[in-house]
Amino acid sequence: MPTESVTDYDPSLGRKFIFVTGGVMSGLGKGITAASTGRLLKNAGFDVTAVKVDPYLNVDAGTMNPYQHGEVYVLKDGGEVDLDLGNYERFLDIDMTFDHNVTTGKTYQHVIQKERAGDYLGKTVQIIPHITDDIKRRIREAAEGHDVCLVEVGGTVGDIEGMPYLEALRQFAHEEEDDDFLLMHVTLVPYSKNGEQKTKPTQHSVKELRSIGLQPDVLIGRSADKLDPETKEKIALFCDVPTEAVFSNPDVPDIYHVPLMVEEEGLDDYVMDRLDIANEADPHEERTREWRELVTREKQGTVDIALAGKYDLEDAYLSVHEALKHAGLQHGVDVNVLWVDTEEMNGEHTSRLEEADGLVVPGGFGQRGTEGKIEAIRYAREHDVPFLGLCLGFQMAVVEYARNVCGLEGANSAELDEETAHPVIDILPEQYEVEDMGGTMRLGAHETAIESGTIAESLYGGGSCTERHRHRYEVNPEYIEQLESAGLKFSGTAGNRMEILELSSEEHPYFFGTQFHPEFRSRPGRASPPFVGLLDAVLETEGGN
Ligand code: GLN
Repeated sequence: MPTESVTDYDPSLGRKFIFVTGGVMSGLGKGITAASTGRLLKNAGFDVTAVKVDPYLNVDAGTMNPYQHGEVYVLKDGGEVDLDLGNYERFLDIDMTFDHNVTTGKTYQHVIQKERAGDYLGKTVQIIPHITDDIKRRIREAAEGHDVCLVEVGGTVGDIEGMPYLEALRQFAHEEEDDDFLLMHVTLVPYSKNGEQKTKPTQHSVKELRSIGLQPDVLIGRSADKLDPETKEKIALFCDVPTEAVFSNPDVPDIYHVPLMVEEEGLDDYVMDRLDIANEADPHEERTREWRELVTREKQGTVDIALAGKYDLEDAYLSVHEALKHAGLQHGVDVNVLWVDTEEMNGEHTSRLEEADGLVVPGGFGQRGTEGKIEAIRYAREHDVPFLGLCLGFQMAVVEYARNVCGLEGANSAELDEETAHPVIDILPEQYEVEDMGGTMRLGAHETAIESGTIAESLYGGGSCTERHRHRYEVNPEYIEQLESAGLKFSGTAGNRMEILELSSEEHPYFFGTQFHPEFRSRPGRASPPFVGLLDAVLETEGGN
């Protein structure tokens, strides 16, 4: 876990804060709405950053099950965080740090440590002011050096866990100048049976906010369609905001269209006016042109990519889905992901693999589904299907090659089979000395040296790359020579760690794997090289369809 900064906050810095809360229910796309608002402000020339507040008691997301929370997103400093931070990085094209994720676990841990050290000089340590002060400090520190800081409060207004944060927010509003602080509340506007938009849930959640002393400045109604003018008026009247402060956020075909949708509603102009940072000089059309052209680009066709993993849940591999989409944007094609459950490698799952134009095997932990991954990789290798292996997917490609090409029967990763005769993936000898397993994970951005004349070099356009990691096991140095002499090339390395594998283009259209997770650095306008390589090969062999 990266260490946290505890610098002193300088209150003279004049940043603007946009807090975003959610009402009625979770899963409304509050994070996407916040990130889209940030994108519009960035388009208008501001330096925008974001903080995600997660009211759970976990210190970080490192130990969380992807089924419950979606993927664990990894930051450059090795912070393991909620997947929402990935959305901010992608929408705002920024690199965040662990300090940009505030959790209850972190806050309480810090306050209790200070209490044990006697820092509170005998005072009673309480939620107000000690926890709330620590929350405010963290938010202000993360905002330092930026023009605008978005602060998304996870969960829904009314949750017990969220209370200290909402109180901190109330104090924040009190402490900041009026035009330095804005509260945006995202709620659900459902339809009645006869197709009428219903505002009651919104009214109730705003009432809840007001009961704790918070008056929203902007209300955003999530619904299937745009809000009717009467709906907006009704919300304005009952929630005590001007009608111009009520915005629609209807369903759109793709999350990257949300900035365009809320811009059409005038959200950015309203927010900039309220924060007194309006920029009249630059017309709207100009500001969003680049983003609009990128995300609405006409597509020439569709490619089918099989994603072979163990969690049948898009959020569990969210960054992989997004990275495929970004590579598609770059190539002007839609990417259709075919789910292949590696625990069910028969029937429909095998036929989906056979239908696909390419295969991605993503990261993972534990034995479940790994034999299916190995089978899928074998299929791709033997049938010239373009393949990209990520982290565990890279490791399984090594195992597959060891078993089926080098003839090392029963080869495996020591993580998955402790008794294997050929641990081609193992803990490095120096790691064995570290006893506490929790501390041995290799996390965050590390540099990889790339060999010249390789596919990796042409994709990355140079002799090195810096990508994010989250793994414990490595290619076992004892087997490298044998694997390489059988044709598996390790084209990227970091000391004795093998980071990239590839087969030569004479042997296979694209057989590429990375020990790191390139998906975490992929952006809509800057697709990740290994994913671009996958689509290059798919379009060359299939020509799309
Ligand atoms: N379980 C493997 C390891 O720890 C791979 C991790 C991953 O795919 N993120 O090395």
